[in-house]
Amino acid sequence: MIKTVKGCKDIYGEDIEIFRSVEKVLRDSARSYGFKEIVPPTLEYSELFQRSVGEDTDIVEKEMYTFTDKGGRSVTLRPEMTASVARAYVEHHFETLPSPVKLFYIGPCFRYEKPQKGRYREFYQFGVEVLNDESPYLDAEVIALAYEIGEKLHLKDLKVKINSIGCKKCRPHYKEVLREALKPHYEELCDDCKRRFYTNPLRILDCKRESKALKDSLPKITDYLCDECRAHFEKVQKYLSEFGIPFETDNTLVRGLDYYTKTVFEVVSNDLGAQNAVLGGGRYDYLIEEIGGRHTPGLGFAIGMERLIEVVKSQKSAQNEKEELVYIAYGKGLEKEAYLTAKRLRSSGFTVIVDSKGGAFGKQLARSRKRGAHFTVVIGEDEFKKGTVQLKDMEKQTQTEVKKEELTEAIAQISESKNGAKESNAPRK
Ligand code: ATP
Ligand code: MG
Repeated sequence: MIKTVKGCKDIYGEDIEIFRSVEKVLRDSARSYGFKEIVPPTLEYSELFQRSVGEDTDIVEKEMYTFTDKGGRSVTLRPEMTASVARAYVEHHFETLPSPVKLFYIGPCFRYEKPQKGRYREFYQFGVEVLNDESPYLDAEVIALAYEIGEKLHLKDLKVKINSIGCKKCRPHYKEVLREALKPHYEELCDDCKRRFYTNPLRILDCKRESKALKDSLPKITDYLCDECRAHFEKVQKYLSEFGIPFETDNTLVRGLDYYTKTVFEVVSNDLGAQNAVLGGGRYDYLIEEIGGRHTPGLGFAIGMERLIEVVKSQKSAQNEKEELVYIAYGKGLEKEAYLTAKRLRSSGFTVIVDSKGGAFGKQLARSRKRGAHFTVVIGEDEFKKGTVQLKDMEKQTQTEVKKEELTEAIAQISESKNGAKESNAPRK
């Protein structure tokens, strides 16, 4: 049997339903803030990621799907999409558009990682980018959008963590201070961090293998920011407070990618366990220059769709919330009536499955139960003559005879009273 490639997956059944509904929330939220969609290609020249994401990152060091095509060019299946948006910005002269340029994207990304829960080799990212404007107001607005998305999806115990990692002026000095402080602990560091100690000690703060105690004992970057970065960070915090977004500063938050400057942030939720970052982002004022454009400030975040879907799914099963499914059983020769009834119900927004085999009602009902239907509409010969149907509530095991033209209303009423009860029983945080 040929199977899916390791770390890749088919998205089907309940997962694709959740995927599409989550996607709608994300798209609608981004649009409401004035973001327009961009769909970059999946394949880019490898150089784009080497130059933007940076050589000394997990992504470029170990996670990229890079190969040489038949024309001898080195190409890479994108590990993230910010680099592609930045490339598109330069390539298509988006600097001529009114600033800030606000773009959102959704699409598959590829990273050669050890597959596990919430970690795949092909996964989907949704993200937004704001380009060509350095106002700290935008940092706060983008973080507010991220938080709002978490709220709309009812993620539990949402928390915004923010930090500033400075700029080219102040970061080099902090790196030296950090290296000094790490010197006595060099032997305790993991192999990767021993290397990072020389190449980029900031990334040691991002390493999952180093202890929190060690990280907490190190000098804080926010004590070493230049005046400009400090003022920017203070304004972002002020705006966030004014917008009513709860946040905390976390001095160990640095993010894995080289192109970040000033503000970095993550939104975490208790729903996610160990890999609790639902989304991460920050400001990247040097990225566009790095890939050959003019100096252009930028900022954005990316969300991993699979992790969002995981959370939404666990909430759904916790609340036992299902879509209303109506099943239609019918007597001999009443296929047409069954089909027309289904059509009417569907136009009112119900999901309807018509039994495909007909025959004994007992068997049709058993098939309805197997499907997990909430209602079964039974169209018998006698009822058909009277212009009525039998409506079975599968959960309560009750049955009522209703007039054909009142069927939609009857189902809507029962399901509304059920959902209403559920909502009040299960308040969402
Ligand atoms: P992590 O620390 O979990 O590896 P990261 O810092 O590599 O995350 P980013 O590069 O910031 O992640 O990507 C943004 C989001 O994309 C993450 O918050 C996560 O939700 C998602 N993501 C990253 N890698 C994967 C993966 N291999 N499978 C599924 N989702 C992923
Ligand atoms: Mg990673």
